[in-house]
Amino acid sequence: MTIPTTSSHTVNEIRDAILARRRFLITSHARPDGDSIGSQMAMAYALEALGKEVRLVNADPAPEHYLDFPGVERIEIARQLLERDADALIVMESSDLNRTGVAGLEGRFTINIDHHQGNTAYGDLNWLDESAAACGELVFELIGSLGIPLTVEIATHIYLAILTDTGSFHHSNITPKTFDICRQTVAAGVNPAAMARRVFDSNSFGKLKLIGALLDEMDLLDDGRLAVLYLNDDILNATNTTYNDTEGLINLPLTAREIQAVAFFKVGADGDIRVSLRSKYDVDVRAVASLHGGGGHKNAAGFTVRGPLPDVRPVIIREIEQAIAAGMQTRPE
Ligand code: 5GP
Ligand code: MN
Repeated sequence: MTIPTTSSHTVNEIRDAILARRRFLITSHARPDGDSIGSQMAMAYALEALGKEVRLVNADPAPEHYLDFPGVERIEIARQLLERDADALIVMESSDLNRTGVAGLEGRFTINIDHHQGNTAYGDLNWLDESAAACGELVFELIGSLGIPLTVEIATHIYLAILTDTGSFHHSNITPKTFDICRQTVAAGVNPAAMARRVFDSNSFGKLKLIGALLDEMDLLDDGRLAVLYLNDDILNATNTTYNDTEGLINLPLTAREIQAVAFFKVGADGDIRVSLRSKYDVDVRAVASLHGGGGHKNAAGFTVRGPLPDVRPVIIREIEQAIAAGMQTRPE
């Protein structure tokens, strides 16, 4: 089965640039997620189908439950690249080169593919489409324009990208195209039930305990509209879990009907606090993240601040409460 081609100007330019080159380096943002891994791997399989040489490098390992997806073990983990051994660099969903966490990427012909607001268009070719539900949607279109058949490996990674970045089809930006792409991946051999089990039902017992501990300590503010979760090394040690086990936990409070936004403060041993934000409908948490040098999407964003927590917490809480008040005015239903 071949993916239908697109007539987009940028896609065609990227297609031609790829066809004219042989050796590729593919990277994505630090602390990769399902969309960045899926986009990278789908692109890698597609390039190899064209007989290209591909090397994949990320600053951090993929979350554990993605490690047995096809080819993920091939991703090298490095924070610095010294060799200049590629004709082109492809960067998935990184607002700038720093966000890859890999030093030494500059100076190569660069193709920049992203669906976040605020990308700095640092590439020689930039394909930036905020309307895409996942970067994997853009990669799917590019693979189609290259005329590459949709193998089960490529389809699996595209589906992984979309399933995870839409929060299992919960977030905004989901369009008919999203389902059309998913339909094609299922026709190519993806099993959605098995994918959901692999991605969402792969918790350790420790993670269940961690969920209990976090929810036990959760603050409910703003008349129950805002949930706040806190993580520190003591909770991780008590539940025998690691930072990686926190992935996805931020979404749990949103399952309560009243809750409109969630803030997750992860206090590191070095004093840095990683803040993850999630929201429903028109509550714009990206606006809050961008006040602190971070970014993301309307319903999923993040940033890092210096502690201590008691100093920064009230400011951030107030900003989120304002975002909730603004967003509630246009809430559907
Ligand atoms: P998470 O909370 O899962 O780390 O991130 C949620 C969303 O916000 C993702 O789309 C991610 O790319 C974006 N994001 C998280 N942290 C940062 C940051 O420090 N800078 C930018 N630009 N985006 C971020
Ligand atoms: Mn994404």
